[in-house]
Amino acid sequence: MKKIGVLTSGGDAPGMNAAIRAVVRSGIYRGVEVYGIYHGYKGLITGNIKKLDVADVGDIVQRGGTILYTARCEEFKTEEGRAIAIQQLKKFGIEGLVVIGGDGSFMGGVKLTQLGFPTIGIPGTIDNDIPETDFTLGFDTALNTIIDAIDKIRDTATSHERQFIVEVMGRGCGDLALWSGLADGAETIMLPEKKEDLDTIVERLNRGIERGKKHSIIVVAEGVGSAYDVAKEIKSKANMDTRVTVLGHVQRGGSPTAFDRVLASRMGSKAVELLLNGDKGKMIAIQNNKIVAHDILDLLTKKHGFDENLYTLAKELSI
Ligand code: ADP
Repeated sequence: MKKIGVLTSGGDAPGMNAAIRAVVRSGIYRGVEVYGIYHGYKGLITGNIKKLDVADVGDIVQRGGTILYTARCEEFKTEEGRAIAIQQLKKFGIEGLVVIGGDGSFMGGVKLTQLGFPTIGIPGTIDNDIPETDFTLGFDTALNTIIDAIDKIRDTATSHERQFIVEVMGRGCGDLALWSGLADGAETIMLPEKKEDLDTIVERLNRGIERGKKHSIIVVAEGVGSAYDVAKEIKSKANMDTRVTVLGHVQRGGSPTAFDRVLASRMGSKAVELLLNGDKGKMIAIQNNKIVAHDILDLLTKKHGFDENLYTLAKELSI
């Protein structure tokens, strides 16, 4: 293999740039040319592809977002779209591809692999919703953004003796809510994996109020439902002034944490190593602090594991 490509696809996540840098520099270090494909699979179809040199990925390790841009591309889901993509790759002489993104992007990568074009995935998504990896790129940074916000919210919650409901990202996977709730000492954490009856939550809040508690933080994962709806119900049943903050896309941005930068560097280098060893259809993962690889088709039949112990601990500490 003499030329490989790299693209970012799906939702962006802090650490994607550090991963691009690692793929480019590990590739060059091992003697191959690396091509950046812009706007995800869309760039593969339109041929928006440029060779990246060592200096092209300088000064990006600390930057959020992705210099290659990201997009969703319906055309790539069609056989015709993928045939054009393969033609483009052949035109540029690219023989292997690293896809940084979520499970949807990996499906696209698998389809390329099935067409005889080797692809390796790197999990880049703040939600941490990918199976068989302890962490995805961007999760730690998003978590720290949330914690920073909740710390500030707690100041005003305490001053005004209010209850705050904070909605964080996470549709099917509540890891951001669980970890931030635990790290911030939230009184209640509402997760898609653990549907808790609202009356039970209100009873607990009211017990706190009777004990003299004057403020509280409730973290809600977006997969549970709108924080405004949760607030409406709680407000009618718990006797406390209630406010809502929806953190939204602020969670997607920002400079990646040291953890995400190091993870991105390790995963990027491993992806190149696997491609050059003739591996394909695999996703790089971190398990017990070891960088490993899993068959994508196999892992997409699974769900990201829910950490029951962490959930129990959060409950234990928020009595
Ligand atoms: P994520 O990677 O964050 O899960 P999406 O699910 O939106 O994001 O997928 C990103 C892109 O990956 C899609 O716009 C499409 O181009 C490609 N993709 C997703 N699913 C498939 C599929 N089943 N077959 C081919 N390409 C796909």
